[in-house]
Amino acid sequence: MQLHPVKVAELTYLRPVKRALFPGSFDPITNGHIEIIRRGLTLFDEIVVGIGLNTSKQPMFPPAQRLKWIQEVFQNEPRVQVTTYTGLTVRFAREIQARFILRGLRSAPDYEYERNIDLLNKYLDESIETFYLLSSPETSFVSSTLVREVIKFHGHLEGLLPPHIIADIYATYPESRPVGSK
Ligand code: ADP
Repeated sequence: MQLHPVKVAELTYLRPVKRALFPGSFDPITNGHIEIIRRGLTLFDEIVVGIGLNTSKQPMFPPAQRLKWIQEVFQNEPRVQVTTYTGLTVRFAREIQARFILRGLRSAPDYEYERNIDLLNKYLDESIETFYLLSSPETSFVSSTLVREVIKFHGHLEGLLPPHIIADIYATYPESRPVGSK
């Protein structure tokens, strides 16, 4: 286990690093995810953003592209690391010595969905605790699914994603630019 030196007055002691896994598909990462990660950094020493490659859904963006975008967003934040993983999320959390999982909650359907996953994860590995942060009103309507729809139907992406990701999307899919934009 990795230990973290803590100094209180003259006393220095070592405590375990509080590492959380933030799992998801991040197809692509949105301002909603970014907000949860930034707020998560006030709770945990380190956050590992895990891009899960399990889903049967065909992603819009390749894993390497999703990984690069997240790394760019957090390039000045050494406490955030990004990786891909396959298999059970709790198993991966254990593998990277993360005792915590971080998730965001936008709405009641999110809660219902997360509750089942939480129960299953506890059944699989009760040593891993999941923490939930409620999304802010500014981002609670943002989802990767909605962003992919906006891309397909040439809507404005501003405010949903960081500007450099929007620029990359327009470069890769010039046809997705909103009508009338340069
Ligand atoms: P999505 O549901 O958008 O496809 P992911 O599967 O990548 O996203 O989700 C990863 C985590 O991020 C989940 O806990 C999800 O609830 C959370 N999340 C996604 N969008 C937001 C948002 N706008 N605000 C807060 N949490 C969010």
